[in-house]
This record gives sequence, C-alpha cells and structure tokens, in this order.
Amino acid sequence: MKRQLEILVKLQKIETETSGIKAELGQVSQKLEKLDDELHAFEQTLADEESSLNELKQKYRDYESDAQMNQSRVDKTTVKLRSVKTNKEYQALLKEIEDQKAKNSKIEDQMLECLDRWDEVEKSIAKKKQEHIELSEQLKNEKEVIARDVEQKKKKLAELDMTREEIAGMIEPNLLAKYNTTKSQQSEGLAVASVKNAVCSGCNMNIPPQMYNELHRRDALMFCPHCHRILYWDETTMTKNE
Ligand SMILES: [Zn+2]
Repeated sequence: MKRQLEILVKLQKIETETSGIKAELGQVSQKLEKLDDELHAFEQTLADEESSLNELKQKYRDYESDAQMNQSRVDKTTVKLRSVKTNKEYQALLKEIEDQKAKNSKIEDQMLECLDRWDEVEKSIAKKKQEHIELSEQLKNEKEVIARDVEQKKKKLAELDMTREEIAGMIEPNLLAKYNTTKSQQSEGLAVASVKNAVCSGCNMNIPPQMYNELHRRDALMFCPHCHRILYWDETTMTKNE
C-alpha cells in the first residue's frame, strides 16, 4: 500500500501541474487581446491628432479667405475714396478702411496662433508615428514570446499526459477508482493529503490520535475523517518534526 500511495502522490502532482499549465494557457487569449487593445488605443490617439491637424488646416484656409475678402474690401474702398465729393463721405470711408484693417490684423494674429498650433501638432504626430513603429515592434516581439511559451506548454502537457498514463497504469484499479471518486468530490481536485504532526494537509484539521498511530503502524488505506481525502504519512516531515 505504501508504494501504491507514493505512486498516487506522484499522479496527483502530475495532475496538479497539468491543470496549472491548462489554466495558464486559458489566459493566453486574454493576454493577446490586451496587447491588441494597447496598440489600438495608441492608434486612436494618433488618428485623433491627425484629424485635429486637418481641422487646423481647414481653419487656417478659412482665415486666409476671410483676410483676402477684407483686403479686397479695403482696396475697393480705397478706390472709392478718390472719387468722393464731401468731407463727411471721405471720413466715413476712412473709418470703414480702418475697421477692416483692424479686423484683418486680428485675423492675422489668429492665423499665426493657428500656425503655431499646426506646427506643434505636426511635430507630435511625427513623434507618435515613430513611437507607433516601436510599439508595434515591441508588441510583435511580446506575441512571439507568448507563442513560443504556448508551444512549450503544449509540449509539456503532452509529456505530462504520457507520464500520467504510465503512472495510472501502475496503480491498482480499485485504488485508482477510489482516488478518482475522492478527487471529484474535492473542490480543488486534490484527493491525496499528507499528514504532518497529526494534521491533515488537505483540510488542516487534526486526525484523531488513534487513527494517527494507525497510520504510522499499519500499511492501510485511510481517509481523513473531516475532508475524506486519502491520507498518507509523509516520512520526510515525520523525521524532521518528531
Ligand atoms: Zn482532511
């Protein structure tokens, strides 16, 4: 029985490792999605800046045509000025010219502001484009690392499966059946628990002293009275602690 229990413990270790690897593989698609999201978020900020640059360019063109319109008004009024008859009319036209010139100087200020902003955004876009190349490269590398890791894990799983088959074949069918039933009843799927200092490592409850003594002496299959796991006496912990 002792030898059988040792094999059972080995089986459990393999199964635990297998489910750990499977859980990690299950998170891979999430990890890949996260990387894609990161890239998309970056591309979105780049697209936002590109559209704000287009808006600035449009705004600048609008200012430009406003300024041209005002200038042609000024020109027309200046021509009119030569043919006016009265001083009053002359003063009025002069005032009109002054007003239009003032408007244009305001528009020119706005155009300069617009150009500054245009320059800023253009520089930022160029910088982001470079960063985008770097980020794409970095994410591509990360994906490759993940893909390699997945390959290794799959290989490891196949190996574990083979070893599991081998080991399961060495266990008496009756005991294996008990092991599988016990496993299916445990939430963490662990059917075998070592006993250390009279405490079941599965549920951390005390084993009755009599049972504990029996576990030492007799080479028999015993179950934890609390969590019903198959118990085994771990000699390494015993020599250390008693
Ligand atoms: Zn227990």
